[in-house]
Amino acid sequence: MALRVYNTLTKQKEEFVPREPGKVKMYVCGVTPYNHPHIGNARPFITWDVIRRYLEHRGFAVFHVQNFTDIDDKIINTANQEGVTWDTIANRYIAAYFEVMDKLNVRRAHVYPRVSDHIGDIIAIVQRLIDKGYAYTVGGDVYYSVEKFAPYGQLSGRSLEDMKAGARIDVDERKRHPMDFALWKSAKPGEPAWDSPWGPGRPGWHIECSAMALKYLGNGFDFHGGGSDLIFPHHENEIAQSEAYTGEAPFVRYWLHNGFITVNEEKMSKSLGNFFLVKDILAHYPPEVLRFFILSTHYRSPLDFSDERLAEAGRSLERLRTAVHNIRQLEKLPGGAGGEQADTVRRAAAQAKAEFYAAMDDDFNTALGD
Ligand SMILES: [Zn+2]
Repeated sequence: MALRVYNTLTKQKEEFVPREPGKVKMYVCGVTPYNHPHIGNARPFITWDVIRRYLEHRGFAVFHVQNFTDIDDKIINTANQEGVTWDTIANRYIAAYFEVMDKLNVRRAHVYPRVSDHIGDIIAIVQRLIDKGYAYTVGGDVYYSVEKFAPYGQLSGRSLEDMKAGARIDVDERKRHPMDFALWKSAKPGEPAWDSPWGPGRPGWHIECSAMALKYLGNGFDFHGGGSDLIFPHHENEIAQSEAYTGEAPFVRYWLHNGFITVNEEKMSKSLGNFFLVKDILAHYPPEVLRFFILSTHYRSPLDFSDERLAEAGRSLERLRTAVHNIRQLEKLPGGAGGEQADTVRRAAAQAKAEFYAAMDDDFNTALGD
């Protein structure tokens, strides 16, 4: 049976056909390491871990790249508050990321590129975008000109005209279009900065994922993942940058996005006090329960987190374990032993296995049959 996946780009389920037979290349947007991972971080990485494991189980050789945004305002702010360097913060929370993801049995990506190690690659891409007429300089800043890239808006289904009409009045006057975005930002006092042809500064956020994906996966690859909040502008901008730079399309064959997480049916936010860190949850629940809870809802659907739901997931997992244990006991019986009851269970197990593959082949529907 063919594997079908929901592609955000075409807004439909499509049969998965790898660019190279037997191989899958995937890029997943990683975290900005300025704090411990929260429950909203756990969802995409557990989801992508299961997608990768299933693809491997189906015989594909998967190559998985996931970045760390280790240069960012939030990191710089945290560093300034603590009176330490930005990379002290980034290194501390990259270690914290691995600590909880290892506990959650999230298999590590093959490459974890960091922005700070790829400044030269980023500068080269920005320079070429300027040379090709897709980007322009304003003082020490470089902006991408969205009007130069005709398919802009294809991923998010937005039109530049609508975006222009909806833009706030106080938009930066130096931009040619309100949606133009920074590829390179000139240095502000007290910020980390790198030398560039446009003066000292640092990369904008979006360009890092284009640079790192193109470097490790080539001009076009199979899967790109991330939370649905990244569709616009981050992933829209990644397409614009990458395809303008390479002159090749598509940059990505299948765009997959996971749904958001609410906590007690409210949007998760620090100000609401419902901001749950994974390490705090793991102090109360085994990692398998959190994993099971997240996978009990299809990855594209919204997921509501609460203590009751987590406890419920724990009970469901226990029932599943008991069932597996009982089936294992039956399997140990010699052929035909156990009578009619054993035969019934064996038939049910075979059917469940077939249903499992059918569900997973249908856009990785881990939730079915829960
Ligand atoms: Zn990204």
